This record gives sequence, C-alpha cells and structure tokens, in this order.
Amino acid sequence: MVELKTDTSIDAMYAAGQVVGRALTAVREAADVGVSLLELDEVARGVLREAGASSPFLGYRPSFAPTPFPAVVCASVNDAIVHGIPTAYRLRDGDLVSIDCGAELDGWVGDSAISFTVGRPRPADTRLVETAERALAAGIAAAVVGNRIGDIAHAIGRVCREAGYGIPEDFGGHGIGRRMHEDPGVPNEGRPGRGMPLRRGLVIAIEPMLIGGGGDGYHAAPDGWTLRTNDGSRAAHAEHTVAITEAGPRVLTERNSKA
Ligand code: MG
Ligand code: MG
Repeated sequence: MVELKTDTSIDAMYAAGQVVGRALTAVREAADVGVSLLELDEVARGVLREAGASSPFLGYRPSFAPTPFPAVVCASVNDAIVHGIPTAYRLRDGDLVSIDCGAELDGWVGDSAISFTVGRPRPADTRLVETAERALAAGIAAAVVGNRIGDIAHAIGRVCREAGYGIPEDFGGHGIGRRMHEDPGVPNEGRPGRGMPLRRGLVIAIEPMLIGGGGDGYHAAPDGWTLRTNDGSRAAHAEHTVAITEAGPRVLTERNSKA
C-alpha cells in the first residue's frame, strides 16, 4: 500500500534527512587511506547520537539476510555494490567506497548514499561515480507529478546504459516514510509511461547502482549481506530521499556544506 505524506510530514522527513546528510558529510570528511570501515561507522553513529536519531539499519533483518545488520552504515568497497558490512578493513590508495546511511527522527526515516574515492582515484572510478550522480539527478528530475514510476526508472537506466555500465536487477529504490522500505518499488531500469502515477506527497528513495564492467551479474558474499559484482569490476551507488510536491521534486537528504 502506498501512503502519501502531508506537507507537515514531509517537513518532518526533511529533518530526518538532514541528519543523514550530516552523517554522510562527516563520513566522507573522515574517510582517507588507512581509515577503517568500522571507524567510519563510528563517525556516523556519533552524528546520529548527537541529533537524537536512531538507525533504521542497525539490527535490520530483511528476509534475505542471515543475521541482523550490525552497523548504522553500509560500507561497500570496490567490487561491493551495496549492503557491505563495516569491518576492520582499512581503506587503501585508490579505493572506491560507497556509504549508505539511514536515520530515524521523530518516527520518520531518511535514506541516502554516496560513492567516492580515497587517495589517488582511477580515472575509470571517477567516471563511474560521476555517472552514478548523473543517473540519480536524472531520476530525481523525472520525479514530478504527472509522470509514472517507469519514467524515473527509464531516466536512471538510460544514463547508466548509455555510459556502458551494468545494473543489478532486483535491487533499487523504494517508498519511504515511517518505515525505511515502503511501497512502491522504484526500479533502476524500466519503460517510460508505465507503472504507478506519481502523486503529490509520494516520498521515495531513488538509488541507482552501477556496475563498472558493464555486466549485470552480482552475487552475495559469504557474509550473506554484501553484494559483489560477478566480473570483479567496481561498482558505485548514489541515493537520495525525494518528496514529490506540486513545486517539483524536493530532495530531503540534501547535503549542505554548512553541515
Ligand atoms: Mg540507502
Ligand atoms: Mg534505500
């Protein structure tokens, strides 16, 4: 069931989204060669704690997961696409990192992700990350009243495919509100003009995932959580929580530089 949000609820979701934005900004600033993924998780925990927010990731256990998620961020390095568990692994020169973070504040949830490189970036990774951001921007631009879910999916998929990248099936965006994952699903590839019409008050997480090698294949790592590319190529992920309003898409997890 799809729940449309009132303007007041969207404002409350913006407050939750701002905590996520601050956490991602802090993690990105802390990330460097030699810093561990657990240390990055600790940075995000500090931002959530200070804001009085809780983590919708911590203890989360969807049907596919063998264990409750043990952290407040997903940290996915290099060939990991999404859902990486933060470990003692220390970032190395040229690593490509995706950080996904959620926050729950006053009963509302925000969800957002960024990808970036540490140390000296490989040019191919820079292009991959830029394309993920561009795919996200295209998806957000299509999130307007009068369009349908398929228009968002098509906009995302087109940017990814035209750049020659793969798209993991079965994972994508989602409705969001009092729970992190609500209806509808928001695929990263699809046909324009199809699917649910977008209405004022619909809030969705839009999250392109790109496979650098161009194939779509992926598999779960032995930890049961981390999704890795089948061809060993690197992957990028970008996500924002977006409200559809009469005035256009409103990004609730925008990252302000003052954060
Ligand atoms: Mg997320
Ligand atoms: Mg999400």
